[in-house]
Order: sequence, then C-alpha cells, then structure tokens
Amino acid sequence: MSLLEPRNVIVIGSGPAGHTAAIYASRANLKPLMIEGLARGGIPGGQLMITNDVENYPGFPEKITGPDLMKAFREQSIAQGVEIITDDVIKVDLTARPFRVWVGDEKSEYAARTLIVATGAQAKWLGLASESSLQGRGVSACAVCDGAFFRNQDVIVVGGGDTAMEEATYLSGICRTVTLVHRRDSFRASKTMQERVFKNPKIKILYNSAVDEVLDVDKGEVTGARIHDLKNNEKRIVPCTGFFVAIGHTPNTDLFAGQLDLHDNGYIRTKPGSSYTSVAGVFACGDVQDFTYRQAVTAAGTGCMAALDAERWMGAHG
Ligand code: FAD
Repeated sequence: MSLLEPRNVIVIGSGPAGHTAAIYASRANLKPLMIEGLARGGIPGGQLMITNDVENYPGFPEKITGPDLMKAFREQSIAQGVEIITDDVIKVDLTARPFRVWVGDEKSEYAARTLIVATGAQAKWLGLASESSLQGRGVSACAVCDGAFFRNQDVIVVGGGDTAMEEATYLSGICRTVTLVHRRDSFRASKTMQERVFKNPKIKILYNSAVDEVLDVDKGEVTGARIHDLKNNEKRIVPCTGFFVAIGHTPNTDLFAGQLDLHDNGYIRTKPGSSYTSVAGVFACGDVQDFTYRQAVTAAGTGCMAALDAERWMGAHG
C-alpha cells in the first residue's frame, strides 16, 4: 500500500486508549494503522510504562506491572491485525480530506479517512534527580493509582492547586498523615477545595517550603524528604514513605493546536458523551481529552468509544 493511499483509521498513541481503539477498529475490519510514538510526548505504551504495580485494572487479581500490562495490550493489538509503526507523528493537516499525517520526518506522509487521537498526557515533575530515581518506589504522580500502597503510612503531597488539594484529600482517607508542601504562602486551588483541606485534621500544611531532595536514593525507597523553608532558610527532614507530586499534567496536544478546539488547559475538547472533536472524522480518547478521571480503565473505555464513533461515522459518510 502506498503511503498516500488513505487508511480508514490512523490511531496516534499506544497507551490504553490507543490500543483499545485499535483493537476495536481492527475487529470492525477497518485495518487500522497505529503510530505508537517514540520519544515525543512519551514512550510507546504510554504512562503505565513508568509505573510498577497496577492493582486497579480489572481482570488481574494478582497485581500486574505497568510494562507487562502494556505488553499484553500491544500483543492483543498485533493478534487482531493492527499495523504498528514505532515512530512519532511530527505534523498533521486536518484542514482537508483525507487527513494527512507525517511520521518521523517530512518525507513519510500518510493519509487517513478518520483519525483517532490518543496521545495522552504527562505528569509534571519537580525535576529532582532523587525524584526520578525513586519513581515507582514511593514517588508517584497519581494518588488514586498508588495511594493504597501507603495505607496507614505517612505521605507528602507537593503542590498548591486543585490537583494537590484533591490528591491530599483522597490520601487522607487512606494514610495516617498527609503533609502538603507548597512553595507559596497561599494556595491557588478553588476556595471550596482549600476549605476541605483546612478542615481535615489529617492534613498538615507547610507553606513557603520547597523540596530539595527525596530520601533515600541509596536505600532505593522513600524514607522522607529534605525540605527547605524559603522564608528563614531552615532545612529539615520530614519522614514519609510515599511522596506524591501533584503539580499538574501537560496534555500532548501541540500537534493539534490551531486545528482542533482545545480547552483553556490545553486538553482536546470532545462533544459530551462521545469522542467527537471539533473536526468531523477526528476522534479523541484517553487522557488527552480527560483531565478529570485520568485512569487506564477510563482511557481504554474512551478508546472503545472512539473506534465505534469512527466506524459509525465512516458508515454514514461512505
Ligand atoms: P498515555 O498512556 O499517556 O499514552 C499516550 C501515548 O501517546 C504514548 O504511547 C505516547 O508515546 C503517544 N504519543 C504522544 N505523542 C505522540 C506523537 N506525537 N506521535 C505518536 N505517539 C505519540 N492508571 C491506572 O488506572 N492505574 C494505575 O495504577 C496507574 N498508575 C499510574 C502511575 C503513574 C506514575 C502515572 C504517570 C499514571 C498512572 N496511571 C494509572 C494513569 C494512566 O497511566 C493513564 O490514565 C493512562 O495511561 C492514559 O492512557 P492514554 O492511552 O490516554 O495515554
């Protein structure tokens, strides 16, 4: 098949949303092509590739690691006949049909009747070396995903926005104490969320504080954090076993800016109850359009919706 012979469906992204969309599209005989990503905006397999145990994805009573779960998704896609290219999409043109998609470099151009965008999002990190070496060993960016590993233990949450308030409140239902660390002297979260935090006896707040280091890299587990008071420069160690970074996420939507309607926070806008975007024939699923739930199972669910929407749209539009 020549590169420019239009594909029925091109799926961009290989997280739970992309693979689920591709599996459903393949079973509908749409012969989908998946561009699974390489370096831009994440890694093949998506965010679960940087986590250890996944205990909340249904169907795995014995816990499964994130990379093993994504390996199974990929194997299922291949078994269903999905064609996969391991590279990044560098540019798209959604202004004319068929849509055009450039992969890797300007010379590799593909055409598609429908496009399923499943490029996900990335958690923002503090950028400390100790934070990245302890990721998955006590350092996390997702309380709903990993909070249960710290039942009745002491945890730290870093951040001052809505995400941080939500994560701290959620963790207070599971953990013994939650220390909320914030660089400024007040939060930017909504008033209601702040009040919920202020009233919670399990949450202690450290304002004007920055994390210098997560401990203990030598032990390979989290034992605390070295925190520095930005007003008086005092340093202290706050013991904890879980360290949650809650400073927000960045959706991988640079490719679509100016072509698809985005929310103010950069996520793709979809028509409620569907995966339809502002361009007919382009569908979005998973974290790239979801800043509320952000779970593998919800990403997979919306991936299924995108494939069904694409199949029905093609049926209606020839
Ligand atoms: P992603 O998983 O983000 O995948 C996006 C895909 O798009 C990637 O393959 C990437 O390479 C690709 N991509 C991006 N840009 C391009 C491009 N230009 N060209 C081609 N490809 C591109 N959820 C749970 O349910 N349970 C958990 O235990 C859990 N633990 C987590 C732990 C951590 C540390 C993190 C960060 C998240 C965790 N989550 C968990 C959340 C879960 O990982 C996400 O909700 C889910 O992965 C979203 O799936 P997605 O397919 O929408 O996107």
